[in-house]
Amino acid sequence: MFKKILIANRGEIALRIQRACKEMGIKAVVVYSEADREAKYVKLAEEAVCIGPAPSGLSYLNMPAIIATAEVTDAEAIHPGYGFLSENADFAERVQQSGFVFIGPTPESIRLMGDKVSAKQAMIKSGVPCVPGSEGALPEDPKEIIKIARSIGYPVIIKAAGGGGGRGMRVVHTEAALINAVQMTRSEAGAAFGNPQVYMEKFLENPRHVEIQILADEHRNAVWLGERDCSMQRRHQKIIEEAPAPGIPRRVIEKIGDRCAAACKKIGYRGAGTFEFLFENGEFYFIEMNTRVQVEHPVTEMVTGIDIVQMQIRVAAGEKLPFSQRQIEMRGHAIECRINAEDPYKFVPSPGRISTWHAPGGPGVRVDSHAYTNYFVPPNYDSMIGKIICHGDTREQALARMRTALSETVVEGIQTNIPLHRELMADAKFVLGGTSIHYLEGWLSQHRR
Ligand code: ADP
Repeated sequence: MFKKILIANRGEIALRIQRACKEMGIKAVVVYSEADREAKYVKLAEEAVCIGPAPSGLSYLNMPAIIATAEVTDAEAIHPGYGFLSENADFAERVQQSGFVFIGPTPESIRLMGDKVSAKQAMIKSGVPCVPGSEGALPEDPKEIIKIARSIGYPVIIKAAGGGGGRGMRVVHTEAALINAVQMTRSEAGAAFGNPQVYMEKFLENPRHVEIQILADEHRNAVWLGERDCSMQRRHQKIIEEAPAPGIPRRVIEKIGDRCAAACKKIGYRGAGTFEFLFENGEFYFIEMNTRVQVEHPVTEMVTGIDIVQMQIRVAAGEKLPFSQRQIEMRGHAIECRINAEDPYKFVPSPGRISTWHAPGGPGVRVDSHAYTNYFVPPNYDSMIGKIICHGDTREQALARMRTALSETVVEGIQTNIPLHRELMADAKFVLGGTSIHYLEGWLSQHRR
């Protein structure tokens, strides 16, 4: 096992990884930007190194600074967390070439899955069902594009091969709007992701977002740890996640889970990963794979009892997965609310100093956050300041615990989306379960204030 790991991230996930290291007896080095000097995980770390000014391009995305820090601190491995460099194949490669272990899949796997066109092709070959769409990237010829759209049937969605974070997508309802939409998405994708390639998919009208968590080692073992329902989204950004997905029969989940694990073996995948699907009329349609730990991993940890971050570290060190598929048991239900520093209804970011931070507690309640009273939320990064995760024997109990937890939580000095979560936890349709990816936006437009 590693003696020392460098954590190349910030915020709650930097603290989460540090906790895993401490529990395993591994020393953790954290890197931070000037804006994160007073962050909790920086204060709690055995070693902390400032790698640059606030803009992430100069700090958390600064590959030479991160690798140089690993060198001077004698770290053996680098955990990239999520976001930033976590799905950057060039970074993974440079980490390896510099003699460190990248805690994640191989650069080849990251590259294969990072390009959504090649990812879909690999999934089709591995027997994972995909959204009907263009075979590969769209050609230049407008006539060909029109033909493809006709064969798929409107509405269609144009998506950037290199897209991520809910950006680089455009829905097209009519042939008249098609070519212009393709051109606009191409030029945006070129500017934002450095890859102008786009592809086309059938736009599913009312699906749910259901994803499968997998773990794989380099000894060709792969398991799936159940599913998560992440349909509560605004602008393709998840805000509430839960496990299991309400109302989907276990045999349907088992079938897709087994397919995902088999696909991991087929592509030689190592580490943690997530297969994201749209789920409509009882069918799963693959949209993309995330080759890293996800924000919503705790709901899976709560129902399986498996520490996903520790497993990432173990398989990166070459260990075998310590359990087989049959030994994985799912117990109860877990729900996560992402706490964002923002106006709860207008969604304008609300950075600044937190004057009071009071976290909830009690049975089945977990809080993953780097915030505390007097913490200053910097304006430079993502607005998520933490997550509240509640577990119960049933979904009803998990919901009841979440309502209690949210009622106990006090955050003053900045605005947060806690009032929105409180309303959603009491919303009749959400409480029933199984809402689609469009439900939250519809709800918001009806509850505009
Ligand atoms: P990203 O990598 O940017 O997150 P995804 O491919 O995972 O992009 O899609 C993000 C979200 O966009 C999905 O959760 C879903 O809400 C919506 N979406 C993507 N593809 C489709 C589609 N074919 N039909 C309907 N909605 C889609």
